Amino acid sequence: MAKTYDVVVVGAGPSGLLAAKAAGQAGFSVALLERKSDITRLERACGQTLVSVNDYYFDDVVHYNRKGKRIAFIKSGFSFAYDGPIKNCAAWHIFSPGGNRLPFGLPEETRKKGDFGAVGIAYDKEILFRCLLDEVRQAGVEVITGIDVAGVTPAGAGVTVNGSGKSFEAEYLIAADGCNSRIARMLGFNKGRTFYSYLLSKGWYMRKVKAPASDLLISSITQKTVAPGLMFIFPRPYADDLNVIFLTLDPRVNLDEVAAYFTKENPFFSKWFQGAERLKESASAQYIYSPVLDPYRDRVLLAGDTGACQELENSGAMISGWKAGSAVAAALKENRVGLASQAIPQYVAWWKSTYIEKCPHEAYLMNFALPYVMDREEDLDYIFSLVKNPLPPCWNPYAAIAHMGALIQSLVPTIQKERPDLMPKLAAMSRPMTEILAATTAACSPLQELD
Ligand SMILES: Cc1cc2nc3c(=O)[nH]c(=O)nc-3n(C[C@H](O)[C@H](O)[C@H](O)COP(=O)(O)OP(=O)(O)OC[C@H]3O[C@@H](n4cnc5c(N)ncnc54)[C@H](O)[C@@H]3O)c2cc1C
Repeated sequence: MAKTYDVVVVGAGPSGLLAAKAAGQAGFSVALLERKSDITRLERACGQTLVSVNDYYFDDVVHYNRKGKRIAFIKSGFSFAYDGPIKNCAAWHIFSPGGNRLPFGLPEETRKKGDFGAVGIAYDKEILFRCLLDEVRQAGVEVITGIDVAGVTPAGAGVTVNGSGKSFEAEYLIAADGCNSRIARMLGFNKGRTFYSYLLSKGWYMRKVKAPASDLLISSITQKTVAPGLMFIFPRPYADDLNVIFLTLDPRVNLDEVAAYFTKENPFFSKWFQGAERLKESASAQYIYSPVLDPYRDRVLLAGDTGACQELENSGAMISGWKAGSAVAAALKENRVGLASQAIPQYVAWWKSTYIEKCPHEAYLMNFALPYVMDREEDLDYIFSLVKNPLPPCWNPYAAIAHMGALIQSLVPTIQKERPDLMPKLAAMSRPMTEILAATTAACSPLQELD
């Protein structure tokens, strides 16, 4: 016998937790279904930073309320308790393989501004999950773990959800099951989406890394593999610990080789890792699709990464989850009192204007383009050697790529004079991402089940 709710939310990541909290606080009966047995355990790699605290992102700006120990999304009008440690991220520096630096912000400057100079905030996602879960339960939500949702059937004025031998019925379903969403695939939301590639990662929390500072976001690139390999170093909010993650879009790249390259072989970076200790390991495997343009049909609303081009970032997922939960709660009220439907159409309009239009996925993907067109490490070293001034402090992929585009434009006259051979490669940056990534896309299969 199926149990009946007003709302079922599938997925207890950042977006699902906020969606359940919003709908539960409005007093509706809400079930939150999660496949993991322990919601507070982080099972997938994440940099665990909040993007973006010093500029608008999804029409909001994230703020850590130190006194009240709360994370606040000021414009969207919600906040939640977070009683774990945080660390301000002072700047984001991209290094070429040879160690030339492209800085988004100078840490010696941003640190002077304290909380208002940071580009991002490093936090502990397991503590954030625990804090959010407490609030979800306080909101009266029934939290059911160990449910791997495998079937969703829209039925008239509701939806039936099946998984792990159980059945649930609800007036609305919020699908917050992440970027490899089975629900989106089953219900046909993926039709018409462009498949680009995978995003594969593997990494470790690390101690005793001799990076330039433990409050810097650092990334770099290698071309020694068949397709580009990337390294991201994220600050952790525990002393000088770091979260070091190796990434690729291409399944032909062996991430252990990428890790070995940076930590043992590359003359510039390997020094940082001498004597470093590896702590907890993490990994992830995701699809990169173009976003879902219309995230609602048949009483199913998509929230967070479910309809996104790989990721909305934690901040975007939380904002989207909160808005989706609020929209469904308002829709329930509309249905009960006989009002014309406007809450869900408004969510869909918000998704289109705030995400699809203002954060074009092509811009997000362009963050991966440079190593695809500049296909020799020497070329990247040369381009980065030309950077004389810092770019604005930034940890927002959409803003960063705009700054990067302006920087490269400003370098063109010099490159034209000194290295005309690089101009055709630079020109390739203006090709569509489907062309830039063509060889990688061909090496991936969008039908493979990645979880
Ligand atoms: C390597 C890496 C580094 C990242 N670093 C950062 C960073 O530094 N800062 C940042 O802001 N973002 C970062 N992100 C992105 C961030 O992790 C996501 O944007 C965010 O977690 C999305 O939240 P979500 O709730 O939409 O989805 P998810 O976090 O993916 O949550 C989905 C939930 O649904 C559950 N689920 C899935 N399928 C089912 C099913 N069939 N039945 C039941 N439950 C199901 C999953 O177990 C999971 O709990 C990173 C991502 C990766 C991969």
